Amino acid sequence: MRITRVETFAVPPRWLFCRIETDSGLVGWGEPVIEGRAQTVRTAVGELAEQFLVGADPLRIEDHWQLMTKGSFYRGGPVLSSAVAGLDQALWDIAGKAYAAPAHQLLGGPVRERVRAYCWVGGDEPAAVRDQVTAQVEAGFTAVKMNASGRTDRLPTTAALDAIARRAEAAREALGPEGDFAVDFHGRLTTAGARRALDVLEPYGPLFVEEPVLPEYTHLIGQVTGSTTVPVATGERLFSRTQVLPALQAGVAVIQPDLSHAGGLSEARRIASLAETFDALVAPHCPLGPLALAASLQLAFCTPNFLIQEQSIGIHYHSGAELLDYVLDREVFRFHEGHLLRPTGPGLGVTIDERAVREADGTAADWHNPTWRHPDGSFAEW
Ligand SMILES: [Mg+2]
Repeated sequence: MRITRVETFAVPPRWLFCRIETDSGLVGWGEPVIEGRAQTVRTAVGELAEQFLVGADPLRIEDHWQLMTKGSFYRGGPVLSSAVAGLDQALWDIAGKAYAAPAHQLLGGPVRERVRAYCWVGGDEPAAVRDQVTAQVEAGFTAVKMNASGRTDRLPTTAALDAIARRAEAAREALGPEGDFAVDFHGRLTTAGARRALDVLEPYGPLFVEEPVLPEYTHLIGQVTGSTTVPVATGERLFSRTQVLPALQAGVAVIQPDLSHAGGLSEARRIASLAETFDALVAPHCPLGPLALAASLQLAFCTPNFLIQEQSIGIHYHSGAELLDYVLDREVFRFHEGHLLRPTGPGLGVTIDERAVREADGTAADWHNPTWRHPDGSFAEW
């Protein structure tokens, strides 16, 4: 079997899919994207495919991964790692179809029968948080995640800390003691600010607090983990085992590789294994589309130290298209009491609606995250 063609499709709301075709008729799909840089990653996918994949045997996944990540003198970073990630997913999809097995079966087989997922809740005021959490609990979810705050000073004021606490209090009240909420800081605080913020969150028992500091300050995150009983999570902006290692060494409790950013199913699997040696759990980042979620589920079902899965169905900042618009077998992504069941289809376990993807190609608005500024006019983290 040989790879004959690699195509990419930029589709709403902000996603990029790749399709690897072989001379056997088998086709694999992946999702190589970094949010806000779909076109840049698209170029990288084309270059990698031409240099390393077209004409090659698709079943040599590990060898392709080695060449795609190390075969050029300048390597790594979000763009290249995301390009490799989507191509790696598509190769696993082909391998599963070639061996008539889901990818998680090829990676050792299932270790669980269902996967707990959380959904995002918006809302700035505690009352809105309470209403949205209640709605998700009524829809069957047992866990939610929310932003800790909007734009905030890097050393939060007493008022800002109180607002963070009131939102957490509202979430806890709506969930009761059985449910879980997680809080995402998007790296908006300094290390010192994060220590204060985790102090006020501690009484409400968050499942984890995500990116309390920016990934470039991972060398300082031990000051945060060492100051609190709140489990600290990070990893959506770390792209390899070598970048994840210092976070684990600093005591991060939950690592969050993104299957479409961190080198695909191959590298995310290894990151999960590395995390296991630090007694850390894995909660794959996934505010993306159907192939990223399908790849995440393949990892979740074969990973013993998996915690919970992010997913973007109904997420507040998607417009123009939904995850389910691009799949033919929507049952794969149907929630059962806040859980997803084990996909049994071959490869990534999802059937892409190729006609819908081809029709949507090129119709996505250029998505970028907003640029925020502090009241004094200086740049603020989003
Ligand atoms: Mg996050």
